[in-house]
Amino acid sequence: MDFQPILDDIADRLQRELAQEGPRGQVAQYIPALARVDARRFGIALRCGDGQEAVAGDGAVPFSIQSISKVFTLTLAMRHLPEQQLWARIGREPSGNPFNSLVQLEFEQGTPRNPFINAGAIAVADRIVGLYGADALRELRGFMSHLAGEPIGYDEEVAASEAATGFRNHALANFMKSFGRIDHDVATVLDLYFHQCALRMSCLQLARAAGYLCRDGAHPLRADTPVVTERQARRINALMLTCGTYDAAGEFAFRIGLPCKSGVGGGIVAVVPDRLTLAVWSPALDETGNSLLGMKALEMFTQRTGLSVF
Ligand code: GLU
Repeated sequence: MDFQPILDDIADRLQRELAQEGPRGQVAQYIPALARVDARRFGIALRCGDGQEAVAGDGAVPFSIQSISKVFTLTLAMRHLPEQQLWARIGREPSGNPFNSLVQLEFEQGTPRNPFINAGAIAVADRIVGLYGADALRELRGFMSHLAGEPIGYDEEVAASEAATGFRNHALANFMKSFGRIDHDVATVLDLYFHQCALRMSCLQLARAAGYLCRDGAHPLRADTPVVTERQARRINALMLTCGTYDAAGEFAFRIGLPCKSGVGGGIVAVVPDRLTLAVWSPALDETGNSLLGMKALEMFTQRTGLSVF
């Protein structure tokens, strides 16, 4: 299948819609660096398991990947930690609650429902600090660059704003610490968490970096280098499908039918297992925190191509 004309057409239609009707939904407001992003942006890119790539609209423009990073930190932890150690204190069920809920964490004695809500990602960051200590930031950046095939960096302004305004994340981390679920220094763990949210990548870089998820765990650019095992890749996809899109996993499965992970920067990464990875970006979000046009673009893509896990 030649995907370039399909992406061109999707980008063309959605950019025209943005120009004519203006953006619906709202760009994330909680930090200035996100609030000032132009809501009229739209980008899309994909990479097939065989190396074919396509990119359209703002697909090569870097943005703040935010919660999409949770897929990559989970992957990094899965690579290096024994299964029991990683999953002993992190669940695998959809939360059905806001991604930063404290109430649920209290009911469940400080064990986060899954690795993609904030508490779960903070717990994963704790394991990564356990692996790398003071080198954790450098290791994560190196891992992302290794996957994308080019240097990836942090937006330090975003990281600093996340730290300055992330009162709820501070609360979640301290709360888990009070239950004995966080092993390391809370400030060090949160520094990693705030930096992972501040990774800057384009749709094309994200589609490349996530490539192992459509290649049975093999490195996106080098077939002979495993990132994770086939079983682990399958499990990450399962978690994305059930827990990857805040409180809208049912809607995503219904409308799109692919494992997806979204972020409040307006990006969404989607996986067609054994075929391709796809990333979209449009900063205006719906009330569930997912990119409005990103969802629409993914729906158009799956309708046109007939690709789905169902
Ligand atoms: N960085 C924000 C937070 O941790 C949002 C992450 C996201 O859901 O994309 O609260």
